Amino acid sequence: MLSQQDLAEEARIQALHASGLLDTPGEDRFDRFIRLAVAAFRVPIALLSLIDRERQWFKSRVGLEHEEIPRSLAICSHAIALDDMLVVPDTLQDERFTDHPHVTGAPGIRFYAGQPLHSLDGQPLGTLCIIDTVPRTFGDADRRLLRDLARLAEDELNRGALIESGEWLRTIADNVPALIAYVDTDLRYRFANERYREWFGVKSQDMIGKTVLESMGEAFYASRREALERCLAGHASHLEIEEVRRGHMRVVSSTYLPHVRDGVVQGIYVLSTDATAAREYERQLHALAHSDHLTGLPNRRSHEERLAQAIARARRNATPLALAYLDIDHFKQINDSLGHATGDAVLREFAQRLAATVRSTDTVARLAGDEFVIVLEQVGSPLECDRIAAKLHDAIRPPFELDGRTIRVTSSIGIAWSAHPDPSALAHVADEALYRSKHAGRDTATVFVVGA
Ligand code: GH3
Ligand code: MG
Repeated sequence: MLSQQDLAEEARIQALHASGLLDTPGEDRFDRFIRLAVAAFRVPIALLSLIDRERQWFKSRVGLEHEEIPRSLAICSHAIALDDMLVVPDTLQDERFTDHPHVTGAPGIRFYAGQPLHSLDGQPLGTLCIIDTVPRTFGDADRRLLRDLARLAEDELNRGALIESGEWLRTIADNVPALIAYVDTDLRYRFANERYREWFGVKSQDMIGKTVLESMGEAFYASRREALERCLAGHASHLEIEEVRRGHMRVVSSTYLPHVRDGVVQGIYVLSTDATAAREYERQLHALAHSDHLTGLPNRRSHEERLAQAIARARRNATPLALAYLDIDHFKQINDSLGHATGDAVLREFAQRLAATVRSTDTVARLAGDEFVIVLEQVGSPLECDRIAAKLHDAIRPPFELDGRTIRVTSSIGIAWSAHPDPSALAHVADEALYRSKHAGRDTATVFVVGA
């Protein structure tokens, strides 16, 4: 198993190899730092070294013949292990180096100072180091100067990686299935990914420098304006917009995040995804949970919600409300004699006839089996309930023509009417009214006034 140390070293080596710097030709952009170091510190040797697995390789060097040396001889390796500046004022006073062949022999190293150079993700890849053949003192100002030089060299070292990662980011941004953009405080696009072309037919290069309104048009801007302005005021916002794209209704879900620096909004990060499939799925789930799959009518759960809403409305407007229960007479016999499938067909036809009879504002639902319910809004009096019951009976009376058979269906009806409706009282009284109708011989209606 690899130790923590081995893992860290492995990550460092990977970062070094990924930098693509090893074994590349000398470059003036690095040599200039080495020349500066030599001049600034008046040393005979300065190196920009990279510490590979088994060797130290010099990207840039002054005063040293070797292109590389074994890692075991690399003093810079100690600086890497330290991950901090290593200063050895006199190698002969430091037992780590007294026997070092470059100390005892050529080039006769007596002084060393090396500052680690890091990759973009913080891995120490190598050092900028200076070496002298005489002992030296190295004060704070010297340290600061070496650190500054190393920082500049490090920036140069990572310049290629930055450009490359920039291109990578562009590629990633263009290929994720989302709109990604950045707009400044004038609402001008500074960045927009390729998806804008696919979704809206606008090329990203035509958007840069133009405002949202100019590049995307009035309708697009109008529906987003408020969220954009909120974001400029420093508040993240989220919105979902339905729009027709290429003849299809799409739901675009957008997040606007303010880019804040020193407490001041500098611009807006925009991320939009296509939520059409998710919303459609939710709609289907909702429909499944709220409807009866045999008749397509609202189910009991949905009925209870709608009844609660209707009661709230009735109370607000001080209007009465009625609740009708219907139960098909001798439905078991239909099932038993004609089969369950025909029974189902009767239920579907029954449901359709009820729905077609009442006002569109009245809600018909199937509670269970052959039990149906209707919430009747704005029914002025119990007398009006009688008229509605008669209409329902008229609708049910014509024979059902199903599968080449003629079936006679009747239903018992119980209606509760209330001037001050309350859900449990209405349900209880409607149930009693239905029971009364069944008891009275079926195919009849009973209307009870709640509280009477
Ligand atoms: P009553 O006049 O007293 O109402 O008698 P009934 O035979 O209609 O009795 P009841 O209302 O209690 O019976 C309802 C029957 O409906 C019982 C059940 O087998 C049947 N049923 C329940 N759900 C379904 C269904 O989804 N499809 C079919 N075909 N039958 C169903
Ligand atoms: Mg029944």
